[in-house]
Amino acid sequence: MPKPLSKRDKVRDKVYEGMQWRKFRKEKLMVDPLCEECKRNNRVVEASVVDHIERIKDGGEVYSMNNVQSLCKPCHARKSSNERADRREGGANC
Ligand SMILES: [Zn+2]
Repeated sequence: MPKPLSKRDKVRDKVYEGMQWRKFRKEKLMVDPLCEECKRNNRVVEASVVDHIERIKDGGEVYSMNNVQSLCKPCHARKSSNERADRREGGANC
């Protein structure tokens, strides 16, 4: 069963479902078609995700080219799991 979404998650989901976001996302991928994280590691990987550098939840601008980066799926997944880990306090288990 899916977890109930918080109010803020609902707002975010609305953004990602909207036409404006789809257009903006497409534009970003046209400007930066390669994963920016991989580029920093000298790899050339096609991006398929447009990620907010500062999360919408944290007050980041939704439709600002300065607040988004193109990522491939693995980089995006890694970033998301890092963000979750950051919020866990003192939970190091390595
Ligand atoms: Zn990547």
